[in-house]
Amino acid sequence: MFQATPSGIGSTKDRSHPRVIVVGGGLAGLAATVRVAEAGLPVDLFSMIPVKRSHSVCAQGGINACNKVASQQGYSEWQHMDETLIGGDFLNHQPPVYEMAHWAPKIINLLDRCGVPFNRTAEGERDLRLFGGSLFKRTHFAGASTGQQLLYGLDEQTRRWEAEGKVTKHEFWEFLWPILDADGACKGIVAQDMRSMQIKPFLADAVVMATGGCGLVYGKSTMSVICTGGAASRCYQAGVDLGNPEMIQVHPTAIPGEDKCRLMSESARGEGGRVWVPAKKGDDRHPLEIPEEERNYFLEEKYPGYGNLVPRDIATREIFWICEKGEGIGGGNQVYLDITHLPVATKNKLAAILEIYEKFTGDDPREVPMKIFPAVHYSMGGLYTTYEAYDPERDKITPAHQPKRKPNEGMLYGDPKNMMTNVPGLYAFGEVNYAYHGATRLGANALLSCIFDGLFCGLSVANHAREHGGAPATELDPEIVDDLVAKEEAKVERITSMTGENNPYELHAELGREMTMAATVVKTEQRLLEAREKLKSLGERAQSLKISDTGLYTNQNVSFSRALSDMIVYSQALIEGSIARKESRGSHYRDDYPERLDEDFHGTTRVRYDPAAPEGNCRIEFEPIPSPLVPLRARSYGKTDPAKVEKAKEEPGEQKAELTEAIASTGYDQQPGVGEDSTKEMPLPKYSGDTGGNEGFEERNKAHASDKA
Ligand SMILES: Cc1cc2nc3c(=O)[nH]c(=O)nc-3n(C[C@H](O)[C@H](O)[C@H](O)COP(=O)(O)OP(=O)(O)OC[C@H]3O[C@@H](n4cnc5c(N)ncnc54)[C@H](O)[C@@H]3O)c2cc1C
Repeated sequence: MFQATPSGIGSTKDRSHPRVIVVGGGLAGLAATVRVAEAGLPVDLFSMIPVKRSHSVCAQGGINACNKVASQQGYSEWQHMDETLIGGDFLNHQPPVYEMAHWAPKIINLLDRCGVPFNRTAEGERDLRLFGGSLFKRTHFAGASTGQQLLYGLDEQTRRWEAEGKVTKHEFWEFLWPILDADGACKGIVAQDMRSMQIKPFLADAVVMATGGCGLVYGKSTMSVICTGGAASRCYQAGVDLGNPEMIQVHPTAIPGEDKCRLMSESARGEGGRVWVPAKKGDDRHPLEIPEEERNYFLEEKYPGYGNLVPRDIATREIFWICEKGEGIGGGNQVYLDITHLPVATKNKLAAILEIYEKFTGDDPREVPMKIFPAVHYSMGGLYTTYEAYDPERDKITPAHQPKRKPNEGMLYGDPKNMMTNVPGLYAFGEVNYAYHGATRLGANALLSCIFDGLFCGLSVANHAREHGGAPATELDPEIVDDLVAKEEAKVERITSMTGENNPYELHAELGREMTMAATVVKTEQRLLEAREKLKSLGERAQSLKISDTGLYTNQNVSFSRALSDMIVYSQALIEGSIARKESRGSHYRDDYPERLDEDFHGTTRVRYDPAAPEGNCRIEFEPIPSPLVPLRARSYGKTDPAKVEKAKEEPGEQKAELTEAIASTGYDQQPGVGEDSTKEMPLPKYSGDTGGNEGFEERNKAHASDKA
């Protein structure tokens, strides 16, 4: 279908109609592809690997939505939004999060109709499990392989459009650079066929980047080994700003491996798994020989309301600190994640992850507690995006007989601005988009944000491609295109002809070690400044590589070496963001600035690439974030007074009473969004998804608050 034109441009025969390019075939990319095709525009879908192998396939635990069963427990879409905002320590944008939470039930219904095999209860309802940052069961799941089931469901829908000729898939093509016209608007991409190594331009009137996270800048992470962040870095170097690159999620429960870290999903704790260490430091008995009363369930003690399901940044720091005090297993860097006490039926729901543990450690976690430690897992930051907040005056969708929402309650459906970067026509969806998760992502919200981006904002992309005022992509000056292709060809030529002394894979390992030491669980100015210097030297050494394969057929060395330089540039933005944000917020914990400082830092870290900048090849500004729906509040998660718990431990006889008192004095009332005070501040939901779940919410909410009083 694609033909090379005289200037080498790959395009369709009919060039008079707008087209859209989607880069990335994970959940975000597939959802976008389906939505744009449904809106009537042809789509070229690019992926480095077969789309069904995209990293989304690894997602385990589930996807959040307030369905009718959750709403019968008193949960609501509003509360889902509220939990997401406080989970993100208010660094997320409120209108997009509102819209996402309200679309969530519809998305689940749609996926169900697409054939995704969600677990069911005996009554035939979709089953729900608990997940971090919530006290309500609102996570839908398909065993512990939810991502795979969702991806396969959306892949089928994509194939339908492919069969109708609306979608053209380019698997094993690597995105290299966005094509921008003279006005700075995006008009296509330059990509490389990873088999023939041919570099070609492809034109489009809108481009969606759905290229996932950047875990590989940390060397080892729970992410797939193609998650380099290279594509995001290239967009950044071409003029797209980054948002909050310093916000990296370290997941509390993973198993370290030689090649990568493997996740033990939060679903293990959601189904009742407990985290503990021996109460006595240095106790080296087998875990099954340590009786219950000689175990320290440190998360449950300190956060009695949420227990093992506090948000990930909090659980991670607690595990980190317990190990730092020498109280980890055998005094080392591991704690137990224990599901041995759960009923067989519950263990069966976790089979997909338990098999992974057994395969990589040799122990059967059904019988013996798992040994786990935190690992880099997710990137909340990414490409900076914009949106158009909901405005009832401009709402053409809500039928006249239905009440409209208030301003800022969501986004304006179909507005071209939704999730467009600062480069016109260039969009960012899914994990590469920084908009939804702020300073910490709640478990099971990532899959939702990916699919929501595709399904909700896909229409925005189609509208931009059809209606943008600029010249169509087909009229782009061929010189711009030829110049960009020549630059990419020159990069390959340079990489294959280098005769330096540095092995790119060793440099990458060094980068990973440096980033892990400087910018994960606890950051300090001094260590970050050291990392700044190290990145400078790595950047220089990456210019003198020696690669083992210089051939021009399926050369993975070239692809990796090119991505290495891009990873270093991205890491610089991450380190500079970490240095500039002199406070602690969510996953970004600065030992030297342990408090959240809203006056100075309640804002997006907006990073602009600038090789002329004095440090880190970038310039940073903090862009204020409006809070039109939920006012900022402290993030305590019902934490008990540690002094009280310590005292209680010293007096074993009184321990129970003391702990109960500590729990009573904090606990439930301090949960975000459900405590009496916070409910007063919270506007009640005005709009529900198709769950019918919000009827009577006001009464239920009042009753709920008075129950607790
Ligand atoms: C082990 C694990 C378990 C998880 N479990 C859950 C869970 O239970 N619930 C939840 O909500 N979240 C979970 N997450 C997070 C979630 O899986 C991811 O955030 C999400 O799948 C990202 O989807 P995506 O579509 O943005 O990107 P991805 O699925 O990573 O897809 C990226 C796509 O971009 C393509 N690509 C990348 N670079 C290029 C390039 N240069 N050129 C061309 N193509 C390119 C890739 O080929 C791929 O198709 C989990 C994460 C991990 C690591």
